[in-house]
Amino acid sequence: KLSMREEEVETAIKVVVVGNGAAGKSSMIQRYCKGIFTKDYKKTIGVDFLERQIEVNAEDVRLMLWDTAGQEEFDAITKAYYRGAQACVLAFSITDMDSFDAITLWKKKVEDEVGQIAMVLVQNKMDLAASAVVSEESAEDLARRLRLKRFKTSVKDNYNVEDVFYYLA
Ligand code: GDP
Ligand code: MG
Repeated sequence: KLSMREEEVETAIKVVVVGNGAAGKSSMIQRYCKGIFTKDYKKTIGVDFLERQIEVNAEDVRLMLWDTAGQEEFDAITKAYYRGAQACVLAFSITDMDSFDAITLWKKKVEDEVGQIAMVLVQNKMDLAASAVVSEESAEDLARRLRLKRFKTSVKDNYNVEDVFYYLA
């Protein structure tokens, strides 16, 4: 909301969270905005986004985290989803090679819609590291190649999730 009085001016950031189905996107948004994790969380929230307000450099920032309604095939996501996005989480699961291989396409898809915006690579399900199929080296390689900051998260264990969004904010 814009106001003449500076203290009422707030920064709101639309963040889109993309990646293959089952990477943990909806769980990540729920975790960050509602503080919950459920194992058989199926249906995506039913609203367009969830939000959370945080303080960054003494400034209030409202993050609006947009979830997909589980329509992750590349062309099923509508333009409305991307419209006005200022930041993006590219998420994959370390237990799903396809989700890792799709990251470059997801990045391109977002950039085709909204151009260059702040992005991070999120390597999720680190609690399942023992059964990982994506190696640490290939993830590091990809991040370097795409020039993305990389966060290793476990939404389940609430590990590093806050850091992802704080960094973007
Ligand atoms: P989405 O399709 O990308 O939105 O993925 P979901 O958030 O629906 O998650 C898919 C499945 O992975 C669900 O069963 C989640 O509970 C599970 N999941 C999400 N994040 C993690 C995590 O960090 N660790 C583990 N072990 N499971 C997770
Ligand atoms: Mg989902």
